[in-house]
Parts: sequence; C-alpha cells; structure tokens
Amino acid sequence: MNFAAVVFATLSVAFPAEKQKLPCVERTYVIGAVEAGFKEPVVLHPPAELAAPESPVVPPVTAEVHRTGAFIAMMPVVHGTNTFTVTAGDMSLERKFLVSFPDPPPDPNAPPPKPRDPYADLGISTNATFAPKPPRDRPRGEITVMLDAGHGGSDTGAISPHGWKEKEVNLLQVLALDEAFRAAGFKTILTRSDDSFPALYDRPKLAISKKVDAFISIHHNATFASTDPRLSRHTVAYASNTNGFELAAAIQPYVASVMAPVKNIGAQMRSYAVCRNPVIPSTLLEIDFINLPDGEADTWEPERRKKVADAIVLGFLDWLGR
Ligand SMILES: [Zn+2]
Repeated sequence: MNFAAVVFATLSVAFPAEKQKLPCVERTYVIGAVEAGFKEPVVLHPPAELAAPESPVVPPVTAEVHRTGAFIAMMPVVHGTNTFTVTAGDMSLERKFLVSFPDPPPDPNAPPPKPRDPYADLGISTNATFAPKPPRDRPRGEITVMLDAGHGGSDTGAISPHGWKEKEVNLLQVLALDEAFRAAGFKTILTRSDDSFPALYDRPKLAISKKVDAFISIHHNATFASTDPRLSRHTVAYASNTNGFELAAAIQPYVASVMAPVKNIGAQMRSYAVCRNPVIPSTLLEIDFINLPDGEADTWEPERRKKVADAIVLGFLDWLGR
C-alpha cells in the first residue's frame, strides 16, 4: 500500500449523504471529491441490494472526475436500503442511504388545507394588487435594495461535490453584491450577514417594514436526485407576480451574459415564498448549479462572483430606466 496515498489522499462523497432518505427514484447522481489531479479512475460499485439472484449483474460505473477532484456519476438504486462503495486507487468508501417507497395516494375526501395568508398580521393580503413602480425619479442614494442570501443555519440548501453548502455560497455572492450596489451609490440591507436563518416569510416582511424599493434573493441550484445535473445546468430568475417579473426580466439578461455559455432560461414565474411579496418587487436568482463539478468550480472563483454582482447592478439600473 502506498503510504502517501493513505496519509494524504482523500475520498469523500457529498451526495447521497450517509443515511440520507431520497424520495422514490430509479437512479441518483453521486457526487464527491478526491484530491485535485488524482490520476486513477474513481469507480462506483452499485448497491449490493440490486444484485437479486434473478437480476442481471449491474456493472460498476466509472465517475467523471473534474480537474478540481470533484466527481460525478449516475447510479441505479433499489427501493429501501442501498449500500454502495466508491473506490479510487487504494481508497474505498462505503455509503448507505434509503430510497422511500411512493407515498400513499392522498385521501380524496380530505378537506383541502386552508391557505394561511402570511401577511395578514401586517394587514396586507398576498393577493393585493398594489403595484409599486420602480423609483425612477429618485437619486441612487435614496434607493434601498434588500439582498437575501438563501437558506442559512440548519437549512444548508444544496450541496456541492466538495461538500460546500449552498447557504455559504449564497452569502458570498450576496456580500459581493452588497459591495457592488454600494459602489454604485445605492443603499442596501441584508436579510442575513452570517449563518443565521431568518424564517422564510420574515425576509419579505423585513423588506416591507424597512420600505425597501426592491428585494433580490440569491440561490444556487441543484437537481433532484434522479436528474443528471450535467444535462440540466442553467441560470434563471424567478418571480411570483408582475412587479417581481419586471425586475427579474430586467436583471436576468445581464446575469446570463456573464454566465455564458451556461444556458439561460430567462425570467420565469414560480411561486416562491420570498417572491410572493405583494408590496415590494421581488426576484429570486438561481445563479448556477453547485451539485455539478463545473458549476462548483466556477462558483468558487471570486472573479465570477464579482462579475455576477456587477451584472445584477446593471440589470437593476436597467429596471430603473437608467
Ligand atoms: Zn436555494
């Protein structure tokens, strides 16, 4: 056995995590990392539970290894417990996770849950038709943008191959964005500047109470377990009402231009808690996919974060008609 390999080499699996429960899927992506520049193949040995006596042998899968050491492969799974092994040279790592059986169909006679209006305590209805206009006539120093780093605390968000958490990635991007907005002469307020977790509706409510002019939430995406992130990488801006959509549509082309050749799917309507703000124009930007080795490597670059931040400010200026 190579002593150096034992002492210095590393092999980790970020997803699926040990004892993680996946919803009903037929296959999952597996992401993890070896040391950058590792030359030997990284091989996934599919779950032993797949090898029923009557079923054909499922061959091992060789992972795609990125220059950063991040690796990815798709692996078939069974319902119930799955125990698979990853080998890389002398190293071997066993991982156990669960795939749940499909949920029972919902009871057709059960009364539908009554939606609670999250803004009721502020005397505002989510369905209010109040339509704020961009503050076109105000000087920059009198315009405030709220910047929201998605997730935080025990809510990690997505996980990258090296185990980097989306909550950390989002915060780094928000700090770069804060700098860019201030450098351009705007005022900013952050929903969090540390590893705290403001409750989902407390974020838009803070935007309302501080009377900010716009709300921008920053996220980094991941695919569902069964979807190969290599086929899904894109950048997108979401909104949940017309006010937000104008903001999203103004910003996203600028973000897309610095993210190219990553696919841009533009501004889209999607019902997200932080965007369902009837009073403040709000958008949620999914900058990139961090469960993908390429996405993780690009997101890691401070230079890319700066470019994205500058692009968002340019889009914001466009929204203001400047
Ligand atoms: Zn997120």
